Amino acid sequence: MTTDDDEVRVFDAAAAAELERQRDTSEMLLSVARALCEPTDLPAVSRIIADAVPTVCQADRGAVILWDETTNMFVVSAIAGWTGDTRRRLELWAGTPFPAPELRELMEIGAPVLLDESTNSWTHEIVVGFDIRALALVPITVAGRSMGFVAAHWAESDPPARLDDTVSSRFTGLAGLAGVALDNNRLAGEIEWNVQHDRVTRLPNRVAFERSLARMIEQADATGAGTVVMVCDIDRFKRLNDRMGQAAGDAVLIEAADRLRAAVRAGDVVARYGGDEFAIAFAKSNSYDEIAPAVARIQRSFSQPFAIDDHDVVLSLSIGWAALGRLETEGSPAERAQRLTAVAETDLMDTKESRRSTRGSSGSHDELTLDTDLHGAVERGEIFAVYQPQVDIASGRIVAVEALARWRHPTLGLVRPDRFIALAEENGTITQIGEHILLSACRDALTWNQLGRSIEVSVNASVVQLEKPGFATSVAAALCTLDFPAHMLTIEVTESKVVTDQSIAQAELNAISSLGAAVSIDDFGTGYSSLTQISNLPVTELKVDRSFVAKIDDGGEKLVAAIIGLSRGLDVRVIAEGVETQEQFEALARLGCDRAQGYLIAKPITSQELLSLLGDPTAVPTG
Ligand code: C2E
Ligand code: MG
Ligand code: MG
Repeated sequence: MTTDDDEVRVFDAAAAAELERQRDTSEMLLSVARALCEPTDLPAVSRIIADAVPTVCQADRGAVILWDETTNMFVVSAIAGWTGDTRRRLELWAGTPFPAPELRELMEIGAPVLLDESTNSWTHEIVVGFDIRALALVPITVAGRSMGFVAAHWAESDPPARLDDTVSSRFTGLAGLAGVALDNNRLAGEIEWNVQHDRVTRLPNRVAFERSLARMIEQADATGAGTVVMVCDIDRFKRLNDRMGQAAGDAVLIEAADRLRAAVRAGDVVARYGGDEFAIAFAKSNSYDEIAPAVARIQRSFSQPFAIDDHDVVLSLSIGWAALGRLETEGSPAERAQRLTAVAETDLMDTKESRRSTRGSSGSHDELTLDTDLHGAVERGEIFAVYQPQVDIASGRIVAVEALARWRHPTLGLVRPDRFIALAEENGTITQIGEHILLSACRDALTWNQLGRSIEVSVNASVVQLEKPGFATSVAAALCTLDFPAHMLTIEVTESKVVTDQSIAQAELNAISSLGAAVSIDDFGTGYSSLTQISNLPVTELKVDRSFVAKIDDGGEKLVAAIIGLSRGLDVRVIAEGVETQEQFEALARLGCDRAQGYLIAKPITSQELLSLLGDPTAVPTG
């Protein structure tokens, strides 16, 4: 018989033993945790965990098995206590694909399991194959995701009959530590990666580029092989980004990065240098001639359109370069790397500058001034509209005008649209300019109307305006504010632009059309519209480009006849622009053209001048 005292003593002994085990467990796990404070890489973390298995779990051997998502395989990342033949067999096993669906399932259970040869056929295979008596597995979880296992193996000593609380908690504790250490390791790796890479293109960034370049320079010094740096940027990227949105801009950068990477050799370094600028370090190259084939490949790849949001966008690159051989040799490799890239960047700027100045303006300086001065030009009252009359050919009456923007620059005088519209499109001021011209034209037309002359107005819309959702809304607001009848307004859009950006522009144009305003395709015949594309747009007028009109006298009548025929087929109005001679006017009349606009009728004139012209309605060509 046992007395109460005996029971208390037994209980005390059991409690003391349990406490002891808990203390041992804590101490063991603590020492593993301390060891884990040091290592910096995955193999080191795995080794510490595997080494701790025999002591912590009272097993003979241990291993850390990780799931590799890229190869969809389990990989044995560290082992402890495995020797001789079985070690070799384990290493062999680790290097072969091991789909083990059972292991994947166990990973999801989340708790330690004890397996021996009787558990199922695959454990039988493992136990026999590796000369062990039993094994226990506990999943390693990182941020809620199973990453693999800590494994304990019993070969010489007796395996436990079951995983009691103590073994279980030690085992789970060890897997917990492994999870934390692996997560820290992953985070550290990510941080390291982020410091060196651009997230969008996943290319090395400026810091990493200069580091790689410095190493390349060091090697070049040692071997005599040169280095050439090329920097390039995507022309008009900012405009694309503004027009199509940042996601589209990112997609372009990613695609551009891929094309650049594909064009260079192994050993060359492609990096995102910032914004829309990329840098390439060509190893073992001495001059531009040696990188020319790669540059040609790059240019060729950029001649293919970029498919962005269902659009085919054609982009070009500006390129600058510099060769190490031409650089002064003093300074550390890092300093020389920076200098070399700076020289290439200067070359890039020179290229862009000279291209700008050959674009036909009076020089890059002026263009820069214009660019800056365009901001605020509307507020300062420098932008105004002039009007070029359009006559109805049948009646000879002025029925409409095209509003054309002019800029009275404080120092440069009158600037024509060919010099500032493209700039305004690039720097975004076109939206404000466009709205201002629209409002001016509608206001002036209301004045003419009050004076008894009902004149329609045509206003040019840039694709930059059309691409911004809200263009139609702003037109509607203008019409509403001024109480201007929509049917008196035509919006002119340039053919090629409407086509390349069709789907975005289309929605805005449809909205314009539902307001009751007309849509005219300007410069018709010079773009690339297919008939289907034109017939999909809410077009009410085709405007024959003046280059065709100019050829009328020169046997080019057939082309104009074809466009007029086309407009008849589409049931839209047709107007000819740039009509300069009586012969052209008469030919157009003969061909059935509806309206005409050009110097023959009048040059673009102010509202006042128009009024005096209108005062004499016979002021149309009579021969
Ligand atoms: P556009 O819309 O094709 O306008 C016709 C251009 O041809 C005008 O030049 C006009 O002055 C010129 N022109 C008219 N008749 C004749 C002629 O008989 N012979 C010759 N050689 N030229 C003639 P402008 O005013 O310099 O405008 C140039 C372009 O600038 C316009 O071409 C239009 O695309 C753009 N633009 C003008 N104002 C605006 C505006 O307010 N907004 C936008 N987005 N673009 C505008
Ligand atoms: Mg026009
Ligand atoms: Mg035109």
